[in-house]
Amino acid sequence: FSPWTEPHAVPFIRFENITKRYGDFVAVDNLSLDIYEREFFSLLGPSGCGKTTLMRMLAGFEAPTEGRILLQGKDLANTPPYKRPTNMMFQSYALFPHMTVEKNIAFGLEQDGLPKGEISARVDEMLKLVKLEAFAKRKPAQLSGGQRQRVALARSLAKRPKVLLLDEPLGALDRKLREETQFELMDIQHTLGLTFLIVTHDQEEAMTVSDRIAVMDKGVVMQVATPAEIYEAPNTRYVAEFIGDINILECAVVANTGEILQPGHPPVVRLDSRGVPIAVEQECAAVTGASVAFAIRPEKVRIALDQPVDVSVNAVHGEVWDIGYLGDFSVFLVKLADGRVVRAAQANVSRLVDRPITFGDMVWLTWPLDAGLVLTR
Ligand code: ATP
Repeated sequence: FSPWTEPHAVPFIRFENITKRYGDFVAVDNLSLDIYEREFFSLLGPSGCGKTTLMRMLAGFEAPTEGRILLQGKDLANTPPYKRPTNMMFQSYALFPHMTVEKNIAFGLEQDGLPKGEISARVDEMLKLVKLEAFAKRKPAQLSGGQRQRVALARSLAKRPKVLLLDEPLGALDRKLREETQFELMDIQHTLGLTFLIVTHDQEEAMTVSDRIAVMDKGVVMQVATPAEIYEAPNTRYVAEFIGDINILECAVVANTGEILQPGHPPVVRLDSRGVPIAVEQECAAVTGASVAFAIRPEKVRIALDQPVDVSVNAVHGEVWDIGYLGDFSVFLVKLADGRVVRAAQANVSRLVDRPITFGDMVWLTWPLDAGLVLTR
């Protein structure tokens, strides 16, 4: 359930036909996007896709070449950055090294001329929020990387922005600390009820923290959806391959006639992938003969040594070429007779398997009708 996809919800931030050009170069290309209040929203895409530019336009550091940005229905075009209800959290190296933690947090509030009592109350509140009460008198150099990051967060939240902008906020942290900090960020966002907009190229990070994700490529949004929708129902090959691991098999459509195989399920689309018959339950407009891709996540492919009862459809036979042991999962690379490789992932649930699948084994890969997807572009 996602409260933000309800049709009657009013967007908090609206990017409306935004284009940003630098000379002839189009960094953002006629992009429209709605973000709702209290959402943890990610802009996800490879380096150079325009995500930082989009965020900087919302903050007011850049002006769109065309289009409008609305906040609660109000055009921000004539609002300077310091008057916008947005605040950008910078990387921790932007902390003032000669100031204590509490001074760093108080700095922006002092600049704004808030009364002393108010400042000290807010600093205390922020220290508590990021669990750094005991570190108030330390300087940044006397803190760990994760603690410095929390000071940076406290500093950007002290001004009580309505929207917090985070540009690759956890880039400098090691993996474990990154994961911990992701959960802290979610916790704080929940506690304060703010809207968070994060820019990241790290798909796992986006999946973990976000209510919704916009996957970007070359200045355009490819798909906007919840992490589960993006993972389970990517709308293009680009999105499918950008998020997680996936097998892609080139296919031709054999029949798409509305044939129902299981009551209550979508009709089945029949495909042929170089002689392998594939059937997918999916509403799909692809016509007979069209070239499409069949996409399936490795963990949805079953792997077995014994031949399954029915191998007339959604089944391939091949040799185990490589095995990746990931602790929770093992990934099997299976080479088909025609040289193609299909990956199957299996959860390592038992320590005592009778005969584990090993290199050189001949195996069967099968998958249900509703496990994969037909991608038409
Ligand atoms: P990264 O993850 O590497 O920061 P990004 O998706 O955030 O990438 P942007 O910083 O938004 O990308 O940049 C988008 C494109 O616009 C890039 O190709 C970049 O070179 C270009 N660009 C950004 N700022 C300027 C500028 N001031 N002048 C010219 N080109 C720019």
